[in-house]
Order: sequence, then structure tokens, then C-alpha cells
Amino acid sequence: MPIHRITQLGLVNAYLVEEEDGLTLIDTMLPRAHKKILAAAASLGAPIERIVLTHAHGDHIGSLDALATALPDAEVVISARDARFLAKDLSLDPGEPQDKPRGSYPGAKTRPTRTIAPGERVGSLEVHAAPGHTPGQMAFLDTRDRTLYAADTYTTVGGVATTAKPKRRFPLAAMATWHKPTALETARAMRALDPARLAPGHGPVVEAPGAAMDRAIARGA
Ligand SMILES: [Zn+2]
Repeated sequence: MPIHRITQLGLVNAYLVEEEDGLTLIDTMLPRAHKKILAAAASLGAPIERIVLTHAHGDHIGSLDALATALPDAEVVISARDARFLAKDLSLDPGEPQDKPRGSYPGAKTRPTRTIAPGERVGSLEVHAAPGHTPGQMAFLDTRDRTLYAADTYTTVGGVATTAKPKRRFPLAAMATWHKPTALETARAMRALDPARLAPGHGPVVEAPGAAMDRAIARGA
């Protein structure tokens, strides 16, 4: 499948995934990115049918409200856990690490039309739990070509890195990570999916990322 990355400055990404019935948008970037996203969809000549959010940080949900207004019929999909952050409920569950959630959680007026859990599908995308960066982060594997929409499990700005340890070239995602040991476990789980292509929330798409992911896990430990 061709990959359709939309980016702000090469640093903050959203993706459009082609499906039979239209497009799935993964993440909405910072506020005021909606026009750029809608233009990208228009250039593909297909409607955005679904807005899927990997997690509720501000640089992933920033343009959600504007897009939901522009696309009133689109599904809005997020994990049940991060849906609470989207509603500005920052409470932790008793069974979770009690570390304070980090990074920006501006919340949104838009409510999900559907919450998702690991093992479910969104079109061609297989839903995978990817906790650590946030408690309810989800990653998405396109089973047609094994592209991994990896959310903030890995960043690729200045090279492939996990978000378990701040990286000098791009420390922001790791600094916003809630629980680093869980993030490292998730990085291993993502590697075990053996993706053919890594499509992160921050940085360029990386083809055949396996070896680079192994090195990142080794450095992140
Ligand atoms: Zn994040």
C-alpha cells in the first residue's frame, strides 16, 4: 500500500490509510492542522470515514474538534482508557503504576463514537495495546503490508528510538512518557510484530525497521 504521511515540520505526523470505503485518519496533529489534513484527503479523492486517535496527547488530538466539525459523519475512535484523558479525566486506576501522567492533555469537546481494545480491527488495521507513553496508547498494524502505525512507541527524528529514554536529538516524546518500563516492554512487543515499515508519530517513515528497532531497544534499556 502507498503510505500517506501528513506532517507539521517533519516532526508531528498524521496518516491517511486507504480502505475500500474511504480513508482512515490516524491522529490529528496540533491545533489548526485540519485544513492541511482535509486537503491531503481531497488530493486522494476519498472521504475520511474514520478518525482514529493513538493516544490523547495534545499533539495527536489537537485538530480533532475542528475535524469532527468538518466531518460530522466520521467515526471517532480511541481506546477506552485514553478516552478518559480526552475527557480531561487524568485519574489513574488502582492496578496501574501511580506515576503522574506526563505531557499535555488538553482534552477535546468531541467524544468518541466507538472505543477500541487490543485484538479488534479498524478496517485493515489490527489494534495493538501500546501502553507506557500513555496508559491507553494503541498502535495499528496494517495486515495488508505490515505497516506499523506505531504512535509514540518509537520516534524516528534523527534515528529510530524508543520513548523509554530521552534522546538528545528529540527528547520531547520520551519526556512526555508516563511509565518508561512499560514503554520499553511495549517497544519489544512492537518489534515482535515484525513490521515491514515503521510509521511513527514523530519523524520520517522507516522501511525494514527491524534492526534499528533492536538497537533502539538495546539503548532504551
Ligand atoms: Zn504522545
